[in-house]
Amino acid sequence: MLIGAHVGVGDGFPGSISYAESVGCEAIQVFAKSPRQWRAKSIPLETAAAFRERRAASDIAFVCTHTAYLINLGSEDDELWEKSWRALADELDRAALLGADATVSHMGTNRTGDLAQGAARIAEGITRAFEAAPTGVLLLENTAGAGTTFGSGPDEIGAVLSLLDAHWRERLGVCLDSCHAHAAGWDLSDARGWDGFVGGLEACCGPGRIHVVHANDSTFATGEHRDRHAWVGEGTIGSAGFAAMFADTRLANAVAILEMSGDVPEKDRLNVSRLQELRAASSAPGSSASRP
Ligand SMILES: [Zn+2]
Ligand SMILES: [Zn+2]
Repeated sequence: MLIGAHVGVGDGFPGSISYAESVGCEAIQVFAKSPRQWRAKSIPLETAAAFRERRAASDIAFVCTHTAYLINLGSEDDELWEKSWRALADELDRAALLGADATVSHMGTNRTGDLAQGAARIAEGITRAFEAAPTGVLLLENTAGAGTTFGSGPDEIGAVLSLLDAHWRERLGVCLDSCHAHAAGWDLSDARGWDGFVGGLEACCGPGRIHVVHANDSTFATGEHRDRHAWVGEGTIGSAGFAAMFADTRLANAVAILEMSGDVPEKDRLNVSRLQELRAASSAPGSSASRP
């Protein structure tokens, strides 16, 4: 697994690569626009070109964007729903301009409580966005299952995927947020929990769908549906939980991205190195992961 972090673009898009390199990232996630606003200026072509060039000259091997939090593809309000799929299409266009490998998005809410109805609404929104934005891989992120948010587990994510036309399904993958899954009731502090969630996703969505793991530890206990990220090894998933993640061969091609609060650059430098140590230990000679 490559290891990276969500990094800010306050110093410009090219500057985010320099920052990422300085804290040891092998991959990054960025916001392609303000995550708390519907509208934003388009990214100037020369800025996007500078970002792509800077990235090509760096050791950053994977770039994804994360969409705005306002997007709600499950909304029953037609106006908000249309605004949401149009915003998703805009996010996919921005990601393409930046040369990003994928775009991570939350799906939204399902107030009906009916899985099939919620999944159909979201799948229709994704279809509209894909029709409007010709390229780009979309990764659906699982949620902590708080309130009416949709997508806490494999059943809900699988239901959306199964409703998409086959040619759109090729553009769809999954972003597994470990804090969210743990909060939603999959205890990721050991291999059994990882096996349950990853196995469930593979059963619903097919193998190799998990492109990104948001490798966040969790402040609150599993099953509490409370989403607060903790630094690696300092939460209820713990170092053993992330060691189990690295040992899961089904995630070998996924990219681990940290989404941590705290002061830069310490939060990223420290958490990246903690994950890198766990990864090194999992592939060390004699460890279970390296045995045939
Ligand atoms: Zn997210
Ligand atoms: Zn996340």
